[in-house]
Amino acid sequence: MEEEKKSLNFLEEIIEEDLRTGKVPSILTRFPPEPNGYLHLGHAKSLCINFGLAQKYGGKTNLRYDDTNPTKEDTEYVDAIKEDINWLGFHWDKELYASDYFDQLYEWAEKMILEGLAYVDDQSQEEISAGRGTVETPGKESPWRNRTPEENLRLFREMRDGKYADGEKVLRAKIDMASPNMMFRDPIMYRIKHASHHRTGDKWCIYPMYDYTHGQCDSIEHITHSICTLEFDVHRPLYDWFIKTLGIYPSHQYEFARLNLTYTLMSKRKLLELVQKGIVSGWDDPRMPTLCGVRRRGYTPEALKMFCDKIGVSKRDQLMDIQLLEWCVRQDLNARSNRYMVVQDPVKLTITNWPEGKVEWFDCPLNPAEPEGASRKVPFTGSLLIEKADFMEDAPKKFFRLKPDGEVRLKYTYIIKCEDVVKDESGNVTELLCTYDPSTRPGGGEWRSVKGTIHWVSEEFARKIVIRDYDRLFTLADMSQVPEDRDYKDFLNPDSLKIVSGYAEPALLEDASGIAVQFERTGYYIKDSDSTPEEPVFNKTVSLKDSYKPE
Ligand code: ATP
Ligand code: MG
Repeated sequence: MEEEKKSLNFLEEIIEEDLRTGKVPSILTRFPPEPNGYLHLGHAKSLCINFGLAQKYGGKTNLRYDDTNPTKEDTEYVDAIKEDINWLGFHWDKELYASDYFDQLYEWAEKMILEGLAYVDDQSQEEISAGRGTVETPGKESPWRNRTPEENLRLFREMRDGKYADGEKVLRAKIDMASPNMMFRDPIMYRIKHASHHRTGDKWCIYPMYDYTHGQCDSIEHITHSICTLEFDVHRPLYDWFIKTLGIYPSHQYEFARLNLTYTLMSKRKLLELVQKGIVSGWDDPRMPTLCGVRRRGYTPEALKMFCDKIGVSKRDQLMDIQLLEWCVRQDLNARSNRYMVVQDPVKLTITNWPEGKVEWFDCPLNPAEPEGASRKVPFTGSLLIEKADFMEDAPKKFFRLKPDGEVRLKYTYIIKCEDVVKDESGNVTELLCTYDPSTRPGGGEWRSVKGTIHWVSEEFARKIVIRDYDRLFTLADMSQVPEDRDYKDFLNPDSLKIVSGYAEPALLEDASGIAVQFERTGYYIKDSDSTPEEPVFNKTVSLKDSYKPE
């Protein structure tokens, strides 16, 4: 039987080969967030790759917090990261912390010192940087480079015991100050930082650097495929060097292209600044690219996974179109979300031949794709609200919504005809006087069709809601192209949030689906946690239609 087979991405090819040759018996990946901020859409890609590969090949994934920088890290972030991963529906095997390995890393550092492979350097940060040289010119050896192992061990222990202030000394690997790979020019292994750590408290005042930490953590856990973003490819030789030098389990690092999205920034440092400056309401502001932000916006885990699947895994950096993500959100919600009618910019419409006081309840499907599925009851009365934009007095020929003497169907109900228009002194339309045709009730009488169908709500039964209409946070498509002399905040979209009112059919407020709903003919919206019974608040997830089509 011919099965349609997607070609393998480069990581799948590597893994299949490693499994086939028996290089590894099974695969173990890890997701290594630094708990210094909330996860964003870029992390979702990394999560989909790491957990996705493990799932596909019957392996496992560890969650390992890369918590070596105590001044920036916090348990608030640790908890939020777990919540976001759970929300995406991924399950880690072990929850681990780089700080779990501080003792082991320290022991290995002493071992390297005794073998003459590491030394304590008294130079300042500036001197060390200057001494590194450039890609063209070799670095300069530190005057402290040739201390004896005994002296280095004593000094390193004194560093550990708190004898020195921040920045006074560092421990460096003794490799090669002339190496063409700048990473090998005696990289710093430990720095002094008198700061409390979210897990180890005040036990340590020296903390290991990323390069001295990451590979060893992978190795301790027997991670088979350590997958990270492209900018780490220059670190890979050093990753391998520490593992080889220490003679420990040979984990391997592989790099893929990070996710960049149009009109979006994904640097945690900048996202933190937006939060701290109050430019957004918090990490979970629905305009933020954070997972808690898009969740509050109404994006679903299914849509994010669909998106990650579509963009695939590549080795070349690329700017992805945010419209593809929005398209995925629309695809997912279109299939699943409940429908309701909400009028946002209303004009009153009176049915002049409607029996006074009569209320007729229409049974309307919650999802038209399943006409026999669940339904909601929608009240029809003589006073209705429709969108101002659905009426036009001097309408062009192709305008199929309501116009004087024109007919239109009020969704799910009758065909009505516009008989007269009431205006105020300044000529604004304040009320439309219409008649309805009782024989056009769906499911009864004769079926007659008209070109236009518009949504409506009963004025008497309408529930007023607050709508937060979101747009892109930034105006520049490629946020990596902010000119040198400008700040990324110069490109904030001043209209990224508009607050408007809406008038909703009553069933909307009873919706219990837990996902975004469709406001018919408009878009997808999700009830926000700021809602009160008096003032329900809905966030716009994405508009209903867009000319965008994925390739
Ligand atoms: P930032 O630069 O936003 O602070 P980071 O890379 O420092 O991000 P980490 O917490 O260290 O954030 O990232 C955890 C994992 O997620 C890493 O493996 C990292 O490579 C990956 N990751 C981060 N950003 C992206 C992105 N935009 N696309 C794909 N993967 C990403
Ligand atoms: Mg990082």
